[in-house]
Amino acid sequence: MRESTVSDSSPPSTRGDAVPAHADAAGVPWDASTVRGLLQRVDEGAMWDLVVVGAGISGAGVARDAARRGLSVVVIDAADVACGTSSRSTRLIHGGVRYLEQGQIGLVYEALRERSRLYKTAEHLVEPTRFLFPAYRGDRLGPWMLRMGLTLYDALNLFRGEGHDALDSQRCLELEPLLAPEGLRGAVVYEDAVTDDARLTLAVLQDARRHGADVLTYSPVERLERRGDGIDVYLDDGKTIRGREVVVATGPWTGPALLGRPGEHVVHKSKGVHLVLRSEDVPVDRPVVIQAPGDARRILFVVPWGTRTYVGTTDTPYEGDPQGCGVAPHEESELLSTIARVMPGARLEPEAIISAWAGVRPLVRPEGAVEDSAELSRKHRIVRGESGALGLVGGKLTTFRAMAEEVVDEVVRRLRPRWPENRPAPGPCSTAESPLVPLEPPTAQERADPLFADLYPRHGPAARLLAARARGVPELEARIVPDLPYRRIELHHAITHEGSRHVSDVLRRRVPLALTDPGLGGSVAREVAQRLVSARGGSAVEVEDELDRYRAEITRETRRVPRIDPSDPHTSG
Ligand SMILES: Cc1cc2nc3c(=O)[nH]c(=O)nc-3n(C[C@H](O)[C@H](O)[C@H](O)COP(=O)(O)OP(=O)(O)OC[C@H]3O[C@@H](n4cnc5c(N)ncnc54)[C@H](O)[C@@H]3O)c2cc1C
Repeated sequence: MRESTVSDSSPPSTRGDAVPAHADAAGVPWDASTVRGLLQRVDEGAMWDLVVVGAGISGAGVARDAARRGLSVVVIDAADVACGTSSRSTRLIHGGVRYLEQGQIGLVYEALRERSRLYKTAEHLVEPTRFLFPAYRGDRLGPWMLRMGLTLYDALNLFRGEGHDALDSQRCLELEPLLAPEGLRGAVVYEDAVTDDARLTLAVLQDARRHGADVLTYSPVERLERRGDGIDVYLDDGKTIRGREVVVATGPWTGPALLGRPGEHVVHKSKGVHLVLRSEDVPVDRPVVIQAPGDARRILFVVPWGTRTYVGTTDTPYEGDPQGCGVAPHEESELLSTIARVMPGARLEPEAIISAWAGVRPLVRPEGAVEDSAELSRKHRIVRGESGALGLVGGKLTTFRAMAEEVVDEVVRRLRPRWPENRPAPGPCSTAESPLVPLEPPTAQERADPLFADLYPRHGPAARLLAARARGVPELEARIVPDLPYRRIELHHAITHEGSRHVSDVLRRRVPLALTDPGLGGSVAREVAQRLVSARGGSAVEVEDELDRYRAEITRETRRVPRIDPSDPHTSG
């Protein structure tokens, strides 16, 4: 039975991929007034079919699936969209060659199936790429093992795509002259994909919003309590949001606070760091996979990223708040020396590092002690919390859609007996084949246009909407930094249509200047802060607060200080 004081928050849009009524020429607005409207509905006691706690890839995936089935959904995050692990990964959409060694055939099969789906549904964000995996004398996996493993990988991928190639050492060096010739025994070349994790999460959430989902960021959830027909979700500012069902997708924050006893000890936290360098310092043409020295089953990646190259990752147990994790000096030197072993010609000095990021994996904790986090499964698990909320634990960026389908099936199963007769019944899952950006694919002429080509990798076909607004307006059309493909229009769009509330939302996750620009986005930080503060009707003092906050967040994560004012130091080269 529904309570009489509670109004329904039914989704405003239709099912399917029609342009929703609440869209404008650049998409569905998401700005300060959108948030005010949502808070008003909360104050009026609205009730949602589903409250999702956590706006990482897991929560975004659940929200998208549920909203597309016709459920009313609100997603709540303690901070920004993708501010946790989902903007701190190695950015691969992959089956996980490494997991074959652990015998995780089912996981690899599922991940490869999801990868091929994402090729079609998120073409702009998931780029198929040939990876080079060399084997050196003393490496745990020699050329034969690699060939056997990759044959199985091709089979699990149902022999879609090009399959792998085996190379002798000479051919391997022709492909990648940066590799050390000494001790090289051969290599395999195989296919996986590279993405932008934060933009992928945002795109998934934007599709949820297109189907009527609401999103509330910077609102930590303190506790959950079953009441009557639903669950009360208590925010730290005293507000309460009501949901008929709740899914907790809080990644490495998963614990008893929101799930009660079933949330105790379900997550093992493991930290990984990445470093960003200039591509001329580490000039690789394709991602290279490197085996960690010794017995560890860990592999590292050297990944070209336009005019930059990033390297990572480490895998070490982590305690403490995932948000506070940053790159430590010993982790930098460990990564640099591991890469230098096989790429002695690269400039791998601490001064060459432009930026860095650090993330915490939320791994499903097995029974007993954990000896090596690299050995732990990347499978997910669904637990039922004391309030009745479902907790989604573990998994991978790559498999978010399949995880979401499983959870939302369960949510719908539970809602069905209580579903009002006057509303259309929830539809089936529709995420497997539906594009994240439901617009016409780009034409050859559009792809040849430099402005469109710069915008496309982050916005997909919606790049044409941004390009139309920016063209001929120098303060919107220009690149922010000459050797990076980010355009000034994106700073505006991040505030009007992508829900940015603070400077790092814009410069770390929407437009990744904090990861790629030697000044860590400092040159535009003041302008972004002013726009954000004016959009919410704030005062000049708040601009300085915003800049202090940006400085602190980026310095904590990267160990480098954004150069906002001429007096700001900067520790990279
Ligand atoms: C170093 C590293 C490399 C990786 N590489 C890959 C890779 O290449 N490919 C791949 O497929 N996977 C990879 N992964 C795994 C992948 O990144 C994660 O599985 C995935 O991002 C987890 O997403 P999530 O949504 O579950 O968690 P998160 O992204 O951490 O999201 C959890 C969200 O919950 C919010 N939250 C927490 N507590 C509360 C609260 N009380 N109230 C409200 N909100 C709350 C947080 O603010 C956060 O936004 C990697 C992970 C790491 C750490």
